[in-house]
Amino acid sequence: MLRDPENQVEVLAEGAQKEVRPGSDLLLVLQSVVRGGQPACWIRPPSARSNKLWTVVKEMAPDGHALVENDLIRLGRWKFRIRQLVTAEQTETRPAIGRQQVGTCVPACDDEVDSRCCRICLMEGAEAGDPILAPCACKGSIEFIHLKCLRHWAGSRLNTDHPLGSFCYKTVNCELCKTPFPTHVTGLEAGHDVPIVELPNPQPPYLVLEKETDAASSGGNMHILSLADKAITMGRSADSDVRIVDVSVSRCHAKIHYHEGQFLLRDAGSKFGTCVAKRGPVLLEENKRLCVQVGRTVVDLHLTADAAPAQVAGTA
Ligand SMILES: [Zn+2]
Ligand SMILES: [Zn+2]
Repeated sequence: MLRDPENQVEVLAEGAQKEVRPGSDLLLVLQSVVRGGQPACWIRPPSARSNKLWTVVKEMAPDGHALVENDLIRLGRWKFRIRQLVTAEQTETRPAIGRQQVGTCVPACDDEVDSRCCRICLMEGAEAGDPILAPCACKGSIEFIHLKCLRHWAGSRLNTDHPLGSFCYKTVNCELCKTPFPTHVTGLEAGHDVPIVELPNPQPPYLVLEKETDAASSGGNMHILSLADKAITMGRSADSDVRIVDVSVSRCHAKIHYHEGQFLLRDAGSKFGTCVAKRGPVLLEENKRLCVQVGRTVVDLHLTADAAPAQVAGTA
């Protein structure tokens, strides 16, 4: 299936992909099959580079797409990963964020350690409950920081005064060597790692949303949002719960609300659409529908018995 520069969508015959005209894009690859005696159609993403089909929430789930953990959602050109969903009943669950990097503290028992100097408070040595750490790639006189000094500094960078405990979490990098600081310290208490920053415990239900970047992500930009009293809004306007300053995102772009244990994602009438990724290929069965967005084109596919392989409507 092809889109030409005038936004016309056309279906090419098998093997005709070589005929793709300059300026045209392949949108989808359709392959008709028979499943259990019934006609069906495999829908594949356009290229080997992408293995995702972006289903359009407004069309496929007008009442809201029920999110599951690890869902990848897209607003305009911004992508977010659903890292954690905590229902109203899961009152004991803590936000599972920042576990990607676990720091180890330097043993504080030998004499050598006691001559080591903390680069924040400039004091030497460790005390009980306050070991001295080498938390980043810095070496020499700036290698060491007390746990309490690092905790105080990292904690001061976190905005945690929301009434329901919602907060935004960013990996804290060393300002000198740019290495991300560890989020936890091992070996301090038996049996578990101790977090460097004590994070708020949001009021359930809540979700953890991470901005997805193409670079290898290491727990960068997390939104931890309580849905205890209202839906979450995502958009460009300043009062959005997740504010995205980008022209591809509408002022009020999407909403997530909580209903009977489900987190429902709805498009709020956005210009460039809200999508959920499906790993391709997807099998389209008879009398079923698949509405996907490829680039700026929305392709609505219906498989009916009398048409082969699929009826297609495209809008750009
Ligand atoms: Zn110190
Ligand atoms: Zn450093």
